[in-house]
Amino acid sequence: MSFSELGLIPEILQAVTDAGYSEPTPIQRQAIPVVLAGHDVMGGAQTGTGKTAGFTLPLLNRLARHASTSTSPARHPVRALILAPTRELAMQVFESVKLYSKHLPLRSTCIYGGVDMNPQIQELRRGIEIVVATPGRLLDHVQQKTIALGQVEFLVLDEADRMLDMGFIPDIRRILALLPANRQSLLFSATFSDEIKKLADQMLKNPQLIEVARRNMVSETITHIVHPVSSGLKRNLLAHLIRHEDPSNQVLVFVDTKFACSRLAHFLERHDISADSIHGDKSQQARTETLDNFKSGKIRVLVATDVAARGLDIEDLPSVINFELPHTAEDYVHRIGRTGRAGKKGKAVSLVSAEERHRLADIQKLIKLEIRQEVIHGYEPETDFFEGEAGRRRKAPAASSRQQSESSPSDRRKPSERERPPPRGRKPNHIAPDGFDFSKPYEAPKDLSQQPGSAAGREIHKTQRPIAFLLGGLGRKA
Ligand code: AMP
Repeated sequence: MSFSELGLIPEILQAVTDAGYSEPTPIQRQAIPVVLAGHDVMGGAQTGTGKTAGFTLPLLNRLARHASTSTSPARHPVRALILAPTRELAMQVFESVKLYSKHLPLRSTCIYGGVDMNPQIQELRRGIEIVVATPGRLLDHVQQKTIALGQVEFLVLDEADRMLDMGFIPDIRRILALLPANRQSLLFSATFSDEIKKLADQMLKNPQLIEVARRNMVSETITHIVHPVSSGLKRNLLAHLIRHEDPSNQVLVFVDTKFACSRLAHFLERHDISADSIHGDKSQQARTETLDNFKSGKIRVLVATDVAARGLDIEDLPSVINFELPHTAEDYVHRIGRTGRAGKKGKAVSLVSAEERHRLADIQKLIKLEIRQEVIHGYEPETDFFEGEAGRRRKAPAASSRQQSESSPSDRRKPSERERPPPRGRKPNHIAPDGFDFSKPYEAPKDLSQQPGSAAGREIHKTQRPIAFLLGGLGRKA
């Protein structure tokens, strides 16, 4: 099937051709006709499936009748509102909107927190048809009466599950109350919990359900592997794994906290692996620079927190490494959505210590897959990692061999494989053998401390909800 069969206008087809797309992806094939027909949509699709074009192309098509070259702001009211959970995702969606609307006189902008509001206000004053926004900053504009939402015809809620995780649902409900009831609404989410379904019930009218991947499932082109390892040896194992990868392969490493994020990137740098980190304590500018450096290949390893990495569109990423397993199984799906995109092969590697076994069990249950485990010699897990399944495992790591191997971590003998262990809790151990403490608070980077007046710099010291803190210390303002 070609794009021209979907009923899109020539200006949009031209933009698609310019983007180099030869045929629509499955979500685009399904979503475009449904959105063009004016239906509400509940879309189950992960990042990397082409869902952004799936909703943006038909949305632009429907807005094209309003396209006007008039300079009067009154001729350019906000007609489409696209909500995204993070600044990075909002910017990415905005880039797509600009790309696909380049042959149409439709105006678009992106508004997100952590930066000065004034340029956004100037932009909105000009008159803008399509606004891509994070919820908190949008509400700031509403409060300051710098945006009017009374003529919104289209609402897109992207990554709704992440909105939920980040505590944005009350903000979303406030925004919904400000929009005309007569509108077309689209909700996209990679996973569908009961809460998401409840939100969809409130937001959508007779929605058409569009799903390209099975619920909560991950791309089948991804190979999953778990390396059981003692928490104290994780950093060394990470460096070891990266060193033994093809040097041209870039790696995205996920950590649980921003505390660990920069520290881990520095550790890799000290071990001659070019790395940088992206997390909420960094200024927007620093985050953008880091991302650009990663995308252009200047840095090989990007260490990220879940929130900072959300929705990042990084092409051809062959592997994702979970330095720690995420607390919620859904986040595993999100994290590894950065690899194995658009049918390409990907590798999802997880370093799992004994204390994380229950998380592993949750993930396996969610993705309905028993992940292969491989102990790398010299980087064995805590002795209780396989406890409770002595009869099932093929070969347990001997304490003595572990001691011996810690002194020769680069030894690469063939790893032994083990069966999946049952979940079991364990006290956390954040101290690496060299005394490095992952639980220590992260020190704010220079770019923040040098900007005492910046929003990010100011708000970082406030008492905040934990999830908001991850958002660059900006409270509910994304
Ligand atoms: P998304 O899932 O929207 O984040 O898109 C993932 C990537 O797929 C982006 O880099 C898009 O530019 C690209 N893409 C979207 N649609 C197509 C298509 N029909 N053919 C090839 N690439 C596409």
